[in-house]
Amino acid sequence: MRGKTILLVAAMALVGSLYGSSMAADTLAGVKAKGVLVAGVKDSLPPFGSVDPNTKEYVGYDIDFIKYIAKKLGVKVEFKPVTSANRMPMLMESRVDILAATMTKNPERAKQIDFSYTYFLTGQKFLTKKGTVKSLKDLEGKKIATAKGSTSEQNVKKSVPSATILSFDDYPQGVLALQQGKAIAVTTDESILAGQLGKLEKNPATKGRYEIPDVQISEEPYGLGMRKGDAKFVKFVNDAILEMEKTGEAKKIFERWFGPNSDSPINRGSFAIAADKRGT
Ligand code: GLU
Repeated sequence: MRGKTILLVAAMALVGSLYGSSMAADTLAGVKAKGVLVAGVKDSLPPFGSVDPNTKEYVGYDIDFIKYIAKKLGVKVEFKPVTSANRMPMLMESRVDILAATMTKNPERAKQIDFSYTYFLTGQKFLTKKGTVKSLKDLEGKKIATAKGSTSEQNVKKSVPSATILSFDDYPQGVLALQQGKAIAVTTDESILAGQLGKLEKNPATKGRYEIPDVQISEEPYGLGMRKGDAKFVKFVNDAILEMEKTGEAKKIFERWFGPNSDSPINRGSFAIAADKRGT
């Protein structure tokens, strides 16, 4: 009985992996055949992915990359909201074709999915009330908000082991905790925090009260996520990213969302404009 069970499990695993890899290899053809690219994106994280309250359309840096890729494929786009915790399962279960969701590429994740070339580079920082945090020491033993399933959650546990980490589904809930005094800081990528700070600056009640101190605890290169072994699709997406960089399209998108006239201006050297070939 035991032996049979083991055999059965092994057979299922074999079929599963064959099925999985043949499915993965089909994404490029599959997307073309169905005429739509289904992308997993964030829906409340400006300037990467959010829903415009007037048009109800998805807008942002991640959204523009997906639109370019879909145009190059000659297909329509469908955006599906994902969280930091559910995005990899959504991709692996084929509920989306690609992830453009503020996602850091790292070796641990690369065991389960494939990543494109880096299309954005940022680093993890903190959003705080003005004047409350000058260094990591000020965070010791305090409550810090972040999102479940993120590298931000892992990194802050290592950098400030004495802190209590409050993990939410996404960062805006963490910002609410900060506003309510339930956390001393929200931590994640500076580019995401810049978007949240932009929102606080637009509100007369919170304007001028929050900041992102110059305390960085990691580097976060973003990659578009695709299913493991999906070589043709990965190549197509990488070619698109390189083309965007060459033609200046990537720079245009960067300027649109992070330039001096945007809601989340960023003028630091640590923000690469789109593609480089590191860590493919
Ligand atoms: N880039 C980090 C990550 O992939 C933090 C942002 C996020 O949670 O999406 O985990």
